[in-house]
Amino acid sequence: MYAKVDRRVVEELRGIVGEDRVLVEEEALEPYSHDEVVGLRAFPEVVVRAGSAAQVARVFQLAQRERIPVTPRGAGYGLSGGAVPACGGIVLSLEKMDRILEIDRKNLMVTVEPGVITGNIHRAVEAEGLFYPPDPASLDSCTIGGNIAEGAGGPRAVKYGVTKDYVCGLEAVLPSGEIVRAGGKLVKNVTGYNFIQLLIGSEGTLAVVTEIILRLIPLPKVQIDLLVPFDDFQAAADTVSDIIAHRILPTAIEFMERDSIRAVERLLEKEAPFHDAAAHLLIQLDGNVPEAVDAEYEIVSELCLEHGAQDGFVARDRPTRDRLWEFRRKIIEALKHESPVNHMEDVVVPRAEIPALLQGIRAISAEHGIRIVSFGHAGDGNVHVNLLKDRLPAEFWAAAVPPVQEKLYRLALSLGGTITGEHGIGSVRRKYIPLALDTAQIELQRGIRDLFDPGRILNPGKIFP
Ligand SMILES: Cc1cc2nc3c(=O)[nH]c(=O)nc-3n(C[C@H](O)[C@H](O)[C@H](O)COP(=O)(O)OP(=O)(O)OC[C@H]3O[C@@H](n4cnc5c(N)ncnc54)[C@H](O)[C@@H]3O)c2cc1C
Repeated sequence: MYAKVDRRVVEELRGIVGEDRVLVEEEALEPYSHDEVVGLRAFPEVVVRAGSAAQVARVFQLAQRERIPVTPRGAGYGLSGGAVPACGGIVLSLEKMDRILEIDRKNLMVTVEPGVITGNIHRAVEAEGLFYPPDPASLDSCTIGGNIAEGAGGPRAVKYGVTKDYVCGLEAVLPSGEIVRAGGKLVKNVTGYNFIQLLIGSEGTLAVVTEIILRLIPLPKVQIDLLVPFDDFQAAADTVSDIIAHRILPTAIEFMERDSIRAVERLLEKEAPFHDAAAHLLIQLDGNVPEAVDAEYEIVSELCLEHGAQDGFVARDRPTRDRLWEFRRKIIEALKHESPVNHMEDVVVPRAEIPALLQGIRAISAEHGIRIVSFGHAGDGNVHVNLLKDRLPAEFWAAAVPPVQEKLYRLALSLGGTITGEHGIGSVRRKYIPLALDTAQIELQRGIRDLFDPGRILNPGKIFP
């Protein structure tokens, strides 16, 4: 169905982006053959590291003419196989488009290229007393373009929302090679369909984003982080919904089961506070008035104690806070280190259903004899569910994962949730999308993709079964 990349095409690509921006050697292609999904790999035939929207447009014109698939890529830190070139062809890397173009203090906006590492945006705007809240745990590795394509979230979603809530303007290149701009430094905009939101979460299947305008807010002046240990797993889960029910909206409420903390301890070779607890909650509160933040902190502490928390560790300065969050941010890496073969899901449910979800996951784990470690953004109902192979025989593992995956999805759906909260469908969940969306909607969505990309050269093999 697709043509192969031959020497003539490589030469033409070199003419577009420059000699050193085109990679063809197997060793150089290897890092672009996978993302962070364990065991998923497909080699591109060529990698092109674009430097501008105009170059992206010319790459698309060539790819259309030659019928070569194009897979956009940020940092390859995705967890759904989105940046893996399922049909070979060209990987179009945006990593070299990594400039912060403008921090506009008058309009509270920042304009960036797609390859900027998200954490660099945080640091740049915070130096100006401004705040870009979305904070995927991978923020020091992933790109803002990848965040937009995946609709990325993060711990602070509880209070501040996710990537889609901050994008005011975009420049994007369509598979036809046309360059389009949508929105601007605008807080309001209802001109036509919401084109920006259509591209957010489209997983690189509709267009390649080449410039982004993000809304900023003033940096909160006070922050308190609180690590709370629970002897009982269920008590920690119940505390999450109780805090929300008390009309307190912390910046973040992260849930970590004992096994996840233990894995990080082994990775970092250091002991976590409250090492023996069955589960931890990591709660962040912020605001501008110290007394108001302190008052919320008192209520949250009371609620934790009522649910059986024994103690708590409070961080009011950056080094202590970073120490606490290091344990949370390293969990995925630590679980991979512990069981190199594993499988990760990120189902989401209404917040009040977190206790039922966690209970259901335990039952599935016991029924199938697979160790499952849960952690994640409990405050917004999004739990990361890690299946670990450990020393199970390969055949047992291979046979057990699909039914566990499906049971987990059905559990989340039965609780009013859905199959992925922030990691996306990509190639790893596309078989299951009919569980979550009805046929009419899937067909409409396919129709939208075909409108953007009738030749289906952009990121084929993703989202739809
Ligand atoms: C340790 C770890 C922790 C994580 N924590 C979180 C978390 O807390 N929250 C969360 O939401 N995710 C999290 N993730 C998942 C991942 O980091 C996010 O999905 C992130 O947005 C991926 O960005 P990336 O630059 O690596 O994108 P890639 O993996 O390179 O690409 C992801 C998708 O975006 C497309 N794409 C990339 N750039 C563009 C562009 N410019 N235009 C159009 N399409 C593009 C690709 O084709 C692909 O489909 C985590 C991952 C890891 C490994």
